Amino acid sequence: MRASDQPGFTMEGGAFGLILFTDRTTAQMWILGFAAWRAFEAYCPYAVLRIEITSSAMLEDPGLVDAERALGEALRKSRELKDIENLEGFTWPDIPVPGPTPPDATKDRAVIDLTKIATAFSFLHEVQHQIFKTASDRPESATEEEFECDKFARDFLLERASEYSADTQQDRQGVLDKRLMGIVLGAFVILEITPEGRRRGTDEHPPVADRLRRLILEANHQASEHVWVYACSLLLGKLREEEKLPACIRFDNPQALFEQLVELL
Ligand SMILES: [Zn+2]
Repeated sequence: MRASDQPGFTMEGGAFGLILFTDRTTAQMWILGFAAWRAFEAYCPYAVLRIEITSSAMLEDPGLVDAERALGEALRKSRELKDIENLEGFTWPDIPVPGPTPPDATKDRAVIDLTKIATAFSFLHEVQHQIFKTASDRPESATEEEFECDKFARDFLLERASEYSADTQQDRQGVLDKRLMGIVLGAFVILEITPEGRRRGTDEHPPVADRLRRLILEANHQASEHVWVYACSLLLGKLREEEKLPACIRFDNPQALFEQLVELL
């Protein structure tokens, strides 16, 4: 159910089994979907070509400097939209505006598809919380419930992807990879809205890194390289911004890179 506007990121269970959200929240997810794509554009060459990641070389890469500026601007706008009191004071960033007509550019449509999957993931996660409220098999701890809600949302999306690829005769691996990338984007949104001090876990929420790891590694679909490259790019965006990368990272493949990066969150 659409709640009246308020600052913040609102996606939560309400009374009568309803999921409450605001248009401001779905717009934040939209902007974050484009921010994530900017990160993908900035860092995918490193992950794909197995180029060791050294901060000093990155500083001298003019293409990267421009890409990171675009990423920083998109992240800044999503945060501004979260915090601003009055939406009338918000100017939309240089990305497509949400609306019924899909944009012409293939890239923009791809970003929007991923954003829709990420939004569905967030809703489904909250749906499972609502189901647990009256269920006899509710997990004993709040953190275990978070993992279970993530698993429900992911499995739901991946199972439907198999049906979808069979019905439309699209490449099954490609459809599943895209769904998993959307789920990774959903986890990136969690990372973005979780204050840094709570990122390593609280009584109610497990560490974001554990959620991200489980979402990909325990999926009933083996992530292909595209998924790992996308996940690495989003993590690199966050870690570069927070200046948490060590001087040099070497890795054999994107999955190995992911495993190093997620430890640094
Ligand atoms: Zn939750």
